[in-house]
Amino acid sequence: MIRMSSIASLSAVRRVPAAINEPVKSYAPGSLETVALKARLASMAAERVDIPIIIGGKEIRTGKTGTAVMPFDHGHVLADYHMASPEHVQQAIDAALAARREWASWPWEDRAAVILKAAELLATTYNTTLNAATMLGQAKTVYQAEIDAACELIDFWRFNAQYAQEIYCEQPANGPGVWNQLEYRGLEGFIYAVSPFNFTAIGGNLSSAPALMGNTAVWKPASTAVLSGYYVMKIFEAAGLPPGVINFVPGSAGAISDVVLNSPDLAGIHFTGSTEVFQGMWKTVGENISRYKTYPRLVGETGGKDFIIAHPSADPQAVAVAIVRGGFEYQGQKCSAASRVYIPQSLWSEVRDRTIAMMREIKMGDPRDFRNFMSAVIDKKAFDRISAYIGDAKQGAKILQGGGCDASKGYFIEPTLVETNNPAYRLLCEEIFGPVVTAYVYPDAKWHETLDILDRTSPYALTGAVFARERSAVREATSALRNAAGNFYINDKPTGAVVGQQPFGGARASGTNDKAGSKSNLTRWVSTRTIKETFVSATDYKYSFMAGE
Ligand code: NAD
Repeated sequence: MIRMSSIASLSAVRRVPAAINEPVKSYAPGSLETVALKARLASMAAERVDIPIIIGGKEIRTGKTGTAVMPFDHGHVLADYHMASPEHVQQAIDAALAARREWASWPWEDRAAVILKAAELLATTYNTTLNAATMLGQAKTVYQAEIDAACELIDFWRFNAQYAQEIYCEQPANGPGVWNQLEYRGLEGFIYAVSPFNFTAIGGNLSSAPALMGNTAVWKPASTAVLSGYYVMKIFEAAGLPPGVINFVPGSAGAISDVVLNSPDLAGIHFTGSTEVFQGMWKTVGENISRYKTYPRLVGETGGKDFIIAHPSADPQAVAVAIVRGGFEYQGQKCSAASRVYIPQSLWSEVRDRTIAMMREIKMGDPRDFRNFMSAVIDKKAFDRISAYIGDAKQGAKILQGGGCDASKGYFIEPTLVETNNPAYRLLCEEIFGPVVTAYVYPDAKWHETLDILDRTSPYALTGAVFARERSAVREATSALRNAAGNFYINDKPTGAVVGQQPFGGARASGTNDKAGSKSNLTRWVSTRTIKETFVSATDYKYSFMAGE
């Protein structure tokens, strides 16, 4: 056995390969990637996977299980997953703390190599498996799965390695005879990573971004994305991530959080999900603050009420396409999905008619049929919530298109367009997280007032888009809506941020805006140590000015 002390670091200043975005595959009919993916979809649908908890590299089966089903065919069980008890959560914390000692001492280049290897494995061997798990388990069409489970996760991993290098390279100035250094230490303790159902990539990033920076984590995946989460863990293992660096702990969120948030060793929370859950965790951390050994870093990307505003000079067809793609892709279940639109009276009939014409063409169903543009929403809870909003719209507003809900086989909700003349109507204010877009038509002369209304209508500030051909209108909207969105789009839909190109995150009730997949995010997972070294130490306590008179 090799003793740790005998392992030398390479004598070299190493550089990670420059990050490039993973190309999005087209999945044209009959293409090689389509044939391979369809075969994996068929084999995965015929399996029933038994998903363990993974703590310290060991698979644990508790016997208390939940099921992962296909949202578009909820009678079809894809997997049984074992749920963690409070004892297992404590074991996961202990495993993370034990693994931290060695992992934090690795040269950062070796940690980066593990993450970069994970990216290459996902681009190759694991590509069809993770896409298939995301399509079947989270009801994504092939394109939505490809841009998430494959491309975005690969991009997170490649770009984070490059950003880590940039952080480590940032070093202070030196005085005469002095060498100043910054050491970017991982945090003292463990990180609690809690991920949502809607992006496979987010689970893989929330757990691994802190790990890259020398931390270890307890990762609680969403129960409705547990199958893809499990395969992400398999990729980490195949990439050589040491046992205990990321511990995979599915189960009841409340029960797991009770143990984690009470641990004195909690060093940070890396969360993406709803505003309510993040605020609840923040409150608990506040109540426990004197109990922790360090101030936990709280990083949370949360809900949205994302907008499109069109100026009278906008192109109506471009606005209609942005509403359809931005509002209904992945059934409106993107945190960035357009859900409120503000259209001038003069454009409304054209935008409305073009939008409705496209909506009537949309095919919805099983994502294995590649002609479908939409599939089911994630689960019964989501179905009930969205249906209730549609029920509300039937009373308090006008449903222009859609409105149908059917949960008999899968949790299907038609793409729905609602019109209201009340700018404070709840469907314009609250996050619905489903395929429901509400339009407010404003008099052309009230462009400035409408910008102001939009800014004040909802507590969120995640994404938004302005459509205009007049540059002055673009400037006015960009200025008036400065704080209304963390990701602001000009003449483009408000979804589809790409790692390395549009760093993602919002402010106000939408999160701490630490921008997933960016340098700012990675800086939250380090605690800097400043080291000053004086080459020739002072030997006289007196200063030269003391020699006079
Ligand atoms: P959610 O808040 O219901 O769940 C997110 C995670 O938190 C899950 O793992 C869940 O099990 C866990 N959780 C639930 N209750 C908890 C508790 N009491 N303590 C600790 N963890 C708990 O969200 P979701 O339905 O999975 O995802 C949709 C939400 O996520 C939407 O609000 C959406 O806007 C948001 N989201 C935001 C971003 C962003 O970047 N801003 C990205 C994706 C999703």
